[in-house]
Amino acid sequence: MIVALASDAEAGAVRRALVRRGLWVERFSDSTDGGRVQFLVREGSSAVAAGELLAIEGVASVATADPSHPRVDAQPRVVEVEGVRIGVGPGVDPVFIAGPCSVESPEQILALAARLAPLGVRFLRGGAYKPRTSPYAFQGHGASALGWLRQAADAHGLLVVTEALGVRQVEPVAEVADLIQIGSRNMHHTPLLRAAGRTGKPVLLKRGLAATLEEWLGAAEYCLVHGSAGVVLCERGIRGFDRSTRNLLDLGAVALLAHVHRLPVIVDPSHAVGRRDILAPLSRAALAAGAAGLMLETHEDPGRALSDGPQALSLAELRAIVAPHVADDFRQGPRPERPLAPLRL
Ligand code: PEP
Ligand code: MN
Repeated sequence: MIVALASDAEAGAVRRALVRRGLWVERFSDSTDGGRVQFLVREGSSAVAAGELLAIEGVASVATADPSHPRVDAQPRVVEVEGVRIGVGPGVDPVFIAGPCSVESPEQILALAARLAPLGVRFLRGGAYKPRTSPYAFQGHGASALGWLRQAADAHGLLVVTEALGVRQVEPVAEVADLIQIGSRNMHHTPLLRAAGRTGKPVLLKRGLAATLEEWLGAAEYCLVHGSAGVVLCERGIRGFDRSTRNLLDLGAVALLAHVHRLPVIVDPSHAVGRRDILAPLSRAALAAGAAGLMLETHEDPGRALSDGPQALSLAELRAIVAPHVADDFRQGPRPERPLAPLRL
């Protein structure tokens, strides 16, 4: 962004006004324009609307580059999914998404939903189609698992988030999911992003394993331009060099998205670190950084999970993370009808 000053402007006063707004500016003079003073707004500055800068006395014009993701930029801070608000703002509480890595059986998911709902969890997660590194690993129960997931969620007043792994699965997934998950490995898969957008449903867009923030926002733009009702971003760790954790949880990106881009972002510490023993502190850190909620893999018996057992929380461990954020009357009372009782921080 370039802020050009009027010829009679007091450059020092304008600079101070810009700096006060969190802008990091560099002064230069445009020799083709009679040496008029201009300020280049550097990367890393706060996001301030051009209109606000134009109102500063002495500012003649503000030049901005065409935004590469205008729909993402215009998205409200809070995205509403079936009455549940996801975002950061006054009166908006953290949203908890929990469930197994993969839906293993109808009995498993029904029993788990019954235990998750009273804790204050809003969304039931679980993969029907699983992206696995090995073709010999459990690939998910497919279409049948979608039905089991929906029934379990409906029986206990929960919403559903589940992954569409390929374009052909978008339709069946959209039929049962309240929020369509696009997985990390697919963040760059533009035909899938288009197809998910065309359903008109909100999308939970996981960050690619090596995606920059701009690439991630570009992927979100694909969903929105093709019709998605809203995009919630999900930070799930990026590739690091240290194998002590499965991936590297990028809380800097979470803070940037929440506080500079002002977009709703959920953190999935489970896939970020791949081990359950540090999920509680990371959950607190994620919420402090600006996360609108958490996605936590949970299993009634993590040792027996068909996928991602080492990172699955037990119900007791999940309860310890969620409880401080959930109102007592919500936890102890009978299951309310939708809309659900409010949570508190
Ligand atoms: C998942 O959430 O089920 C999943 C496979 O995550 P990711 O795409 O982040 O690896
Ligand atoms: Mn998993």
